[in-house]
Amino acid sequence: RGGMERHTYDVVVVGAGGAGLRAAIAAHDAGARTAIVCKSLLGKAHTVMAEGGIAAAMGNRWPEDNWEVHFRDTMRGGKMLNNWRMAQLHAQEAPERVQELEDWGALFDRTEDGLISQRDFGGHKYARLAHVGDRTGLEMIRTLQQRAVSLGIDVFMECTVTDVFKDGGRVSGAFAYWRESGRFIVFDAPSVILATGGIGKSFKVTSNSWEYTGDGHALAMRAGASLINMEFVQFHPTGMVWPPSVKGLLVTESVRGDGGILKNSEGERFMFDYIPEFFRAETADTVEEADAWYEDKKNNRRPPELLPRDEVARAINSEIKAGRGTPHGGIYLDIASRRSPEFIRKRLPSMYHQFKELADVDITAEPMEIGPTCHYVMGGVEVDADTQESAVTGLYAVGECSGGMHGSNRLGGNSLGDLLVFGKRAGEHASTYAASLGDARPQVDEADVKAAQESALAPFEVEGGENPYSIQSDLQQSMNDLVGIIRTRTELEESLGEIEAFKERARTMVVEGHRQYNPGWHLALDLRNMLVVSECIAKAALAREESRGGHTRDDFPGPDPAWGTKNLVVTLDAAGTGVELHEKTLPEMPDELKGYFA
Ligand code: FAD
Repeated sequence: RGGMERHTYDVVVVGAGGAGLRAAIAAHDAGARTAIVCKSLLGKAHTVMAEGGIAAAMGNRWPEDNWEVHFRDTMRGGKMLNNWRMAQLHAQEAPERVQELEDWGALFDRTEDGLISQRDFGGHKYARLAHVGDRTGLEMIRTLQQRAVSLGIDVFMECTVTDVFKDGGRVSGAFAYWRESGRFIVFDAPSVILATGGIGKSFKVTSNSWEYTGDGHALAMRAGASLINMEFVQFHPTGMVWPPSVKGLLVTESVRGDGGILKNSEGERFMFDYIPEFFRAETADTVEEADAWYEDKKNNRRPPELLPRDEVARAINSEIKAGRGTPHGGIYLDIASRRSPEFIRKRLPSMYHQFKELADVDITAEPMEIGPTCHYVMGGVEVDADTQESAVTGLYAVGECSGGMHGSNRLGGNSLGDLLVFGKRAGEHASTYAASLGDARPQVDEADVKAAQESALAPFEVEGGENPYSIQSDLQQSMNDLVGIIRTRTELEESLGEIEAFKERARTMVVEGHRQYNPGWHLALDLRNMLVVSECIAKAALAREESRGGHTRDDFPGPDPAWGTKNLVVTLDAAGTGVELHEKTLPEMPDELKGYFA
């Protein structure tokens, strides 16, 4: 080991977003010696970017709202492919988790009666998102972080985990490097909680930041766990399209929740042409009814702009393809002609500044140009609904890197709720498991440490290869073009061929310089994860011969009832160089829950 830095914990949490922080707090509270390891600085996790709010049926605006309605909305939004038990736990426990955030000091916006304000979002029957203007994630991270730090939980910042160690079938620890010095660290710990977020950086146009390279997904697979629902990637309907430097940056759904409408280049409010049968009964089919809904939600149905994200993204895509796009290849999102400048600046302060500063557009006076952007991955580590444990004993996954909860499509606001509900559960269970081991803890094998070190340093050993940046850039373009919002067999097959070629190129990629702060080296390590995750997405997308939620096949345009009972699960193949697909029947929902869908 040559003096390698080493630490012993009961629970190591990989990731300091909402999921990781909530898990760490729970593990600590349950008595575990806990550490948080995160790739960037504390406070920089993706969660901080969340704008709209946390979905929780608190009933503050609509007393009619309750967990059953939230559960039903979540399942329908996911086109019934969700793990019903996760959707149930989420709907039941989210209100308590939001309340708890407030108890810990989060300052939410208020209703006129002084309750936590709740706003409208797509797919939610009632105004349900607890929020802080359009900066909810910031408040959530601030609150959780303050609590984690005040509890004295150890934090390893700018420290990237590259391997999970096992002893027999059980987790024994993790391997990481410091970004600054490039030096390695070994964590001895029987419980590892993956909370690494998503995979968006595998696509060229994305709302995700540089950290979203699917590390947790890949770490879990390499440890022997499975991923579920990987064909389902959410393309958010509204990302910025101009200027090129900010293409993909998110424009929050709250713009539509607060009255914004979508128009094509002919000035037509086109969403009325795209109301699917599945949502027809609950969607307004005239402009009059849609507009009246904002004032009187009891007697009117919701505007079609607030259909679930997959529906809206596909509609926008179709309009652009049909030649009715804006000069920069998007669609218009207009709130300026519908709400007063004061209202817009109060409700959407971040959006106002984002457009003013980045695009020189005043959203209180002119429409925004927007288009779909890769935003979220529904797929992730397959876990037990109650404990968040993966197929590997001692390995847990929570937040965006876990799968099942959202089925084929996530409703807005349901991610932040997911982080809190399942973060708490994962932390508690990981802690209980670690405590149950007593002195009989799994041990890190020194040969595995050596192998992890060699694998991490391999890109320095190659001569004459290619640099990781060009491979990453080609991969992103390829995923965008061939595995994007609309998919078809020939393109998916082509993409799998290209991924094989990228893998081959990556085998001989080379990094220059030293281990001290070397972004090229970091990318080389991330790229391995991006490649395996991309292969999972493309393979599952090719296999699912239907369109459902976030997965749209041009050659199989509708949902197929036969696929409505099946999940796709992926594991690493025996050689560890490719991925294998397995079909899995959905768990049967108990009759009392089935009743909500009668
Ligand atoms: P993250 O918050 O991304 O945290 C991941 C953590 O893992 C980071 O700390 C990172 O450093 C660390 N990490 C990653 N890899 C490694 C590694 N190898 N080693 C060590 N650490 C690692 N959802 C909602 O519900 N409501 C919203 O209003 C909303 N708005 C959004 C707006 C934007 C712009 C975006 C991009 C997303 C939004 N989402 C929203 C989605 C939601 O924010 C994310 O799904 C959620 O925050 C993910 O949280 P997480 O804790 O799983 O991961």
